[in-house]
Amino acid sequence: MEYGKINSIEETDKGYFTISIIQKVAYNTKLRKFNVWNVKELKKVMGDALCKDTLVTFTSKKDGVYHKLVTMEESNFSECSGCGAYTPLRNKQQIECELCYGSPMEHPRLEEELKLVKTQIKEYTYSPGITLTFCGDVKEDSLLNHLYVTTVFENSYLYNKLTELKVGDKKHVSGWVDKTDDNSVTFFNVEDVKNIL
Ligand SMILES: [Zn+2]
Repeated sequence: MEYGKINSIEETDKGYFTISIIQKVAYNTKLRKFNVWNVKELKKVMGDALCKDTLVTFTSKKDGVYHKLVTMEESNFSECSGCGAYTPLRNKQQIECELCYGSPMEHPRLEEELKLVKTQIKEYTYSPGITLTFCGDVKEDSLLNHLYVTTVFENSYLYNKLTELKVGDKKHVSGWVDKTDDNSVTFFNVEDVKNIL
């Protein structure tokens, strides 16, 4: 059983729907995309909940190189406060989930107000990607600023949003730290970029 939030539903003229689901896993966020042919059945199961932002449990199965959506229904679930993964409903006392409990791979949470100092769009082997470099100190310019670097590929739910950012924008950036080099550059998996309130 997997947990996710419906990100988009698009009707095609070929008789199927394309559904994308945001799935938070330990220290990262994935976007799962499915072509769904049994639309009638899915509408019957989901009703009005078949729309963006509905929380769902789903099962998928590998079919050749693709993953096929087997079942999907509206559901409630929890979000682990340790690693951010969607998990079965848990009580508030449980701090870590089984995905991150005792995990040797610990990723600190990133929650910072950062200034975008560089964007670079590049063709990677499998898809275009955008690399964003943020600077840590939004108040003063300094040569000793700590830099925060993240790369997002075209299939990410954030790609379009991130390509619209402009150098100089100051944003609230959240995500998970991947690694920090020499205390001067932090590489991270971005989860969201929001306006500073
Ligand atoms: Zn966890």
